[in-house]
Amino acid sequence: MAINRRQFLRRSIVAAAGASLVKPALPSSASPIIIKGPPKKVLILGAGMAGLVAAYELTQLGHQVTVLEARNRPGGRCHTIREPFSDGLFAEAGAARIPDDHDLTLRYAKQLDVGLEPMYPSRLKSLAFDRSGKREGTIDLFTEALGGGFGRDLGGTPTRWQKIKGGTDMLPRAFAKRLEAKIRYGSPVVRIEQDQKSARAVFLNNGNRESLTADRLLCTIPFSVLREVEVPNLSERRIDIIKRTRYAAVSRVYLQTKNRYWEENGYNGFAFTSDYVEVWQPTWSQPGPRGILMTYARPGVAEQITNMKESERISTTLTKLDAIFPGLQTNFEKGASKCWLDDEWNRGAWSFVNFIEFENRTGSDRIHFAGEHLSTWSSWIQGALQSGLRAVKEIDEAA
Ligand SMILES: Cc1cc2nc3c(=O)[nH]c(=O)nc-3n(C[C@H](O)[C@H](O)[C@H](O)COP(=O)(O)OP(=O)(O)OC[C@H]3O[C@@H](n4cnc5c(N)ncnc54)[C@H](O)[C@@H]3O)c2cc1C
Repeated sequence: MAINRRQFLRRSIVAAAGASLVKPALPSSASPIIIKGPPKKVLILGAGMAGLVAAYELTQLGHQVTVLEARNRPGGRCHTIREPFSDGLFAEAGAARIPDDHDLTLRYAKQLDVGLEPMYPSRLKSLAFDRSGKREGTIDLFTEALGGGFGRDLGGTPTRWQKIKGGTDMLPRAFAKRLEAKIRYGSPVVRIEQDQKSARAVFLNNGNRESLTADRLLCTIPFSVLREVEVPNLSERRIDIIKRTRYAAVSRVYLQTKNRYWEENGYNGFAFTSDYVEVWQPTWSQPGPRGILMTYARPGVAEQITNMKESERISTTLTKLDAIFPGLQTNFEKGASKCWLDDEWNRGAWSFVNFIEFENRTGSDRIHFAGEHLSTWSSWIQGALQSGLRAVKEIDEAA
């Protein structure tokens, strides 16, 4: 296959990013290079960030890609909740914060014309609670408390963090727009198989079993869901790792209010509680009088919320946040929640699998794996992108 200069540059970028996170240097040669063999047919399972970046880069390299996605939307855990909120307000169910050293995430946002803005407000006071009681301060107080609770990875200075303008789902939607008909939504995969010559996925189309065959298959389905998919021919060791991998519980509860009364009292709506729950006001940078206060609970508290009915999740959060921002009960309009253990296509928020232990490929293997769980940046968009690019390199270089 003859490839042009654009594809050559792309291959070099993918190779460097997939192999390590060192920023690649662009090659200077303008001469076309010849790759032996026809373009490959590649099936990608999952239209989350790992699957999307792989589909996008493989397409740019001239391969024929089809993505099978169980849901009716792209993005997986990059999911912005817009319903049931009023006035076009929104909040994040999954990924929200982008740190300044996540070069891949920042690079794709730029490349796909997705805007970024500060994650945190610089105005008004935030709150932090610990055993010695309540403290008030600038947003630095919030990020310091967060860093104290979860480590430097999540704390640091507020300026270190950005978010995607208009909602995190703008990023997967930008990828999906460029892939268009290559993504088949509403297509849950139920079986994955391979032989000497090809790989195959069996999936449901309106309840009927269908299958597609390709030269290579990339599976980005989280292991928490993959353990329900038939995958004959996988080694005992891999099956054991897929079964053993545990995913974190995370729950979020959203409360819409008729106004942002806390701002009149000098607060920006961000707080860190004594039981390590983050409180955000995602609407600080959105227009309109209404607001949303939301909680972000991790393992420990998250399971308790998950075990409640939706109405109880909302009522307990209402009581909890009314104690922090008095007046909430009077101004509350409606609520929503998201518990990732409940999510049919994720069954948990994130995980970490030792890729070296899991991988150990044999030459005849036509099934490749990617996803945040198989990266050194698990629980981040950056990890999903990194693992997707590593798989692009494997597939592109395969015989
Ligand atoms: C609560 C939460 C907070 C987070 N916060 C941040 C943050 O602030 N910053 C950040 O960078 N990252 C954050 N992350 C992590 C980030 O969202 C993920 O690392 C990344 O989105 C994972 O992408 P992925 O492609 O690996 O997996 P996914 O997004 O899970 O994609 C997998 C896809 O496979 C599909 N699928 C599942 N089963 C099947 C099947 N049988 N057949 C076909 N398709 C199937 C799913 O529907 C999904 O679309 C957060 C995640 C969560 C949950």
